Order: sequence, then structure tokens, then C-alpha cells
Amino acid sequence: MHAEIVSIGEELLSSDSDTLDTNSVYITKQLGAIGVRVLYKTTVGDDEKRIIEVLKLALSRTQIVVTTGGLGPTVDDMTRQGVAETTGRPLQFHQELLDDIAAKFARFGARMSDNNRIQAMLPEGAITINNPTGTAPGFIVEHQKRIILSLPGVPREMKAMMEQTVIPYLRQKVGTPAVIKTRVIRLAGIGESLIDEQIGHLEKLTNPTVGLNAHTGQVDVRITARTATEEEAAALIQKVEEEVRAKLGAYIYGVDREPLEAAFNRALKDAGMRIALIEIGTQGMLSRRLESQPEALAQIDVLDEALVAQFRLEIDPQADSRATAERLVSLALSHTRHVAAVVLIAGENSMAVCVSVNGETRSRGYGYGTSTTAPDMIAGWGLSILWWMLTHKGMGKL
Ligand code: ATP
Ligand code: MG
Repeated sequence: MHAEIVSIGEELLSSDSDTLDTNSVYITKQLGAIGVRVLYKTTVGDDEKRIIEVLKLALSRTQIVVTTGGLGPTVDDMTRQGVAETTGRPLQFHQELLDDIAAKFARFGARMSDNNRIQAMLPEGAITINNPTGTAPGFIVEHQKRIILSLPGVPREMKAMMEQTVIPYLRQKVGTPAVIKTRVIRLAGIGESLIDEQIGHLEKLTNPTVGLNAHTGQVDVRITARTATEEEAAALIQKVEEEVRAKLGAYIYGVDREPLEAAFNRALKDAGMRIALIEIGTQGMLSRRLESQPEALAQIDVLDEALVAQFRLEIDPQADSRATAERLVSLALSHTRHVAAVVLIAGENSMAVCVSVNGETRSRGYGYGTSTTAPDMIAGWGLSILWWMLTHKGMGKL
């Protein structure tokens, strides 16, 4: 089932208020845990006409509408009236709710004012949602196969009511406890658009859903299934994963949380190889990423600075970064067998990677400018190329 969250309150829209709509974030998580997906979030001020407009639209596009805010006793709290008007169910007074509110006031030692009477009014046929930590009850209206659930804006009250009443109620409506399972297939050596060409049809599925998440030099294919049981979810995911593997298997380096650094480490080990790394202008970004894999570091020689300084003297200052990377690699090959150079020429609008493994040398230049993100980008691309060269031949589809 799908839901829309409607956050109600002028303070959520006003330019001189700092109130963030954290309620909708919390509600989204709680609904997600029982398999209800939030498709829309709407924020509206304390205005009855606009609240009605928003509620009508919400009811036209999702089965479950959760509102938060606007249940207070003051004239600007319009949610009750808004729901009553939208569903054609006039507000009705409930003496037992007023008694309950009066008892709460008595317990807090506070005087109840006349306007609290409005909080004992609910749309006709509504189910009460008890408010254990505040005065105003919330309510549920089941209307033409749709459900509106109205909760207060005070986060503490809203949370208690979600947990105690809303979630158990919706769990029953939604059916068996739902499972949401996600599998991330991680790829390197291929760009997002080429992946999209291969598995674009899968991205149109509704269950499981398939989405791409691009990072530098690496793309995640995220498969998410929503089902009644763990087994069903696993089966749905497996079918799609098999297809992804059949189409793009060569580019898959890991799953779920495994970083590319770890796959690179494994590839080095499998090849029984040590590799020398030269980084220039990247603030040591790639070495630092590899430091998160201490085992990999043992197989990497970050070339001696004195040696690199000596190489630098032989570099043509007019040359672009790709020519520089290639020159560094060819110089280093007289000292070591496998070598990678990652070069970013600051201010020159270019960066490059050159890798030589098993006598095969490949390079690639990028003209992406030199923003502050460039070192991170070139380190990402460098690692991707390194992994690919260690596990395959050639440059892959980078
Ligand atoms: P209630 O229905 O409990 O009376 P209300 O909207 O009438 O809520 P307000 O005085 O508007 O009450 O808000 C109560 C408190 O809850 C305020 O501090 C407000 O900032 C906070 N609040 C309201 N809506 C949200 C929201 N969507 N996310 C986070 N905090 C919120
Ligand atoms: Mg309000």
C-alpha cells in the first residue's frame, strides 16, 4: 500500500521559523518498516481551504493519508474541520473524550478552557487515537476504501500515537508483516549510461524495484523487494540479480557494503602481485582510500618521494596530465614491475590515470576541471581502472 504524508502548520512554511518537518521523516520510517511506501509528502499552512485541497489530492492518489499537526484547541488549528469537510463527515461531539481531556487537565493541575471542547470533536464515524502524552486525541477516518489518520504536531505525542495505535492498526490493514529486503550489486569499470543500456528494462519493474546509484568510478545497482516473507523477497531479488550478473557480470566487484578498495585488495592477492603507486596533485587521496584496507597497503609501494622528485625533474612542464602520467609510469617501470600513476595538474583543467600491469600499459585523461572534488574523482577513477586492469585485460568501458 502507498501513503501520502500531509504536514500541517504555518510554522513549517514561514520564512521566520526554524521548525523542520521532522515528523514526516519519522512517519516515513515507521510506515516503511511495515511495508507501506510513502509516495508523496505535502506541507500546507493552517488554512482550511488549502488543507481541504491537499487532502482531496492526497486521497485521489494514495490509499493511506497521514496528517500531522493542526489538532490543537486554537482557531488556527484546522485539521479536524479539514478532514470533516473533505470526507463529508460532520464533526460530532464526544462527551467521553471531553471527560478524558478534563481528567488530564485535572491531573496536570491546569484549568481547562472552553476552546478545549473542540478537541473532543471528531468527524462522524471516526476511530479515536488515544494520546497518552498529551491532551488532543487523534483520529482515523475510513472513507471510500481510503484511510486518513490524523496526528498532532508535537513530535513526542505524534511518536507515541504512531507506535501504540497507528502502526498496529495499519499492520492489520496491510496484512501479514511485510518485509523489505535490499541487495546492492556493485560495479566498476563501466559507466552508468552503459549499465542503463543493458538493464534499463529492469529499472521499470515495480517489485522488486531496481535503481542505479553512480559514484566516481563505480556504480551501485540497488534491488529492493517488498513482500510478506523473507523467502519471497529473497526469491524476487535473486531472479533480478541473476539477470544483472548475466548481462554485466564482468564489471561486478562486490555486493552490499563491500568497498572497491577491498575488491582491489583481493585482486592483488589473487595475482600475488605488488604494485607501486605514484600520486601527484591529489593530496594522497587514493593512498588514503587504500589505507582503509591495511592488508592492501602491504602490497602497495607508494614510491619513494625522492625518486618521484627525481622523476619530476624529467617531466615536461608543458605536457598535459595524461602525458605526465605516462612518463611517470615509464620512468617507474625501470624500478618496479607493476605501477600506477594518478596525476591531477591543478589549475590546468586536466587529470589522468596511467596503469601498467603485466606489461600492459593503459592511460586515460579527464578534462573535468579542477574543482575541490577533482582529487576525489581522480582517485575513484584510478581505483576503478586499477581493479579492472588487475582482474581483466584492457581498459574496460571507462
Ligand atoms: P497539535 O495537533 O499537537 O496541537 P499543533 O500543530 O496544533 O499540534 P503546534 O503548536 O502547531 O501544534 O505545534 C506543536 C509543536 O510541534 C511545535 O513546537 C511545532 O514546531 C512542532 N511541530 C509541528 N509540526 C511539526 C512537524 N511536522 N515536524 C516537527 N515538529 C512539528
Ligand atoms: Mg500547528
